[in-house]
Amino acid sequence: MGAATVAIPEVVLESSNGQRRIPVIGLGTAPEASSKVSTKDAVVEAIKQGYRHFDAASAYGVEQSVGEAIQEALQLGLISSRDQLFITTKIWVTDNHPHLILPALQKSLKTLQLDYLDLYLIHWPISAKPGKVTYPIEQSELVPFDMEGVWKSMEECQRLGLTKAIGVSNFSIKKLQKLLSFATIPPAVNQVEVNLAFQQHKLREFCKSKGITVTAFSPLRKGSSRGTNMVMDNDVLKELADAHAKTVAQICLRWIYEQGLTVVAKSYDKERMKQNLEIFDWCLTDEDYKKISEIHQDRLIKGPTKPLLHDLWDEEDEHQ
Ligand code: NAP
Repeated sequence: MGAATVAIPEVVLESSNGQRRIPVIGLGTAPEASSKVSTKDAVVEAIKQGYRHFDAASAYGVEQSVGEAIQEALQLGLISSRDQLFITTKIWVTDNHPHLILPALQKSLKTLQLDYLDLYLIHWPISAKPGKVTYPIEQSELVPFDMEGVWKSMEECQRLGLTKAIGVSNFSIKKLQKLLSFATIPPAVNQVEVNLAFQQHKLREFCKSKGITVTAFSPLRKGSSRGTNMVMDNDVLKELADAHAKTVAQICLRWIYEQGLTVVAKSYDKERMKQNLEIFDWCLTDEDYKKISEIHQDRLIKGPTKPLLHDLWDEEDEHQ
């Protein structure tokens, strides 16, 4: 087997009765128009470096490339079995209907060339008319979200062995409470935005109390941001990075790791993906935490619709 340079720590998914583990850092694959490296090449390189968790979504249009990269990694002997990987993908809002969940998962599996997923997530707590995928989603395309029916279908996918775990993304506390009121399999994961400029204390506390693992997305706040980046351009974080002889990105990822969260960070650049793994053998100080607690808080990713939905976050932002 090829040399995996970094052994990434894992955490147990509580909903799995201690059976399933998720690597604390995974590689994001949300597309960026400016990227010069293909998803396939990036995933193969990441596997060489020791990444084992890959975060895809049917809406990203990357499942085929991720699948090809897995096949190549197997052929190259970088991994000896697909079981060594943790593959996540997400259902898009146009398939967020009870009768479309299983066919959507089967389609994702086929595109990924896999027999099973490690984690299947509801991408957003909204549903759009089945059919054409557009982004952002016109509000006129939305239809009521049958959370209970959709979750029952998700549970069926897990019972069929097509996914080892099921979870959600972009769910508020209120929506998680509703889900937990009828779930027979509780969500293993809530994948949400968490970064130093959107720390999400309340939601994280709630998830912890319910045994739901939080996966932080947009940890560097760069993916879809334009203009000033509230973490990467933050002067206080630049000072912390200098003091530790680390980069701002490493300060951001280390903080998330110290919170006990899992994270998906996207870099298709060989050096930066390597850098993002170098966060396990040093720590932040109490003084750093004091400075970090003073960073202005504001959500970056406010929603996938045009115009934005006023009740998507159940007005929990100001209490975070
Ligand atoms: P991110 O990981 O916070 O930032 C990615 C950007 O930062 C890229 O432009 C990358 O460029 C750059 N970068 C990475 N490492 C760096 C470093 N060490 N120094 C400087 N720049 C660095 O943003 P994200 O893509 O929004 O979020 C990560 C993943 O979360 C996504 O890819 C996706 O898988 C997931 N996500 C999920 C949702 C959801 O609704 N569930 C929403 C958003 C994102 P290079 O590639 O050039 O390094």
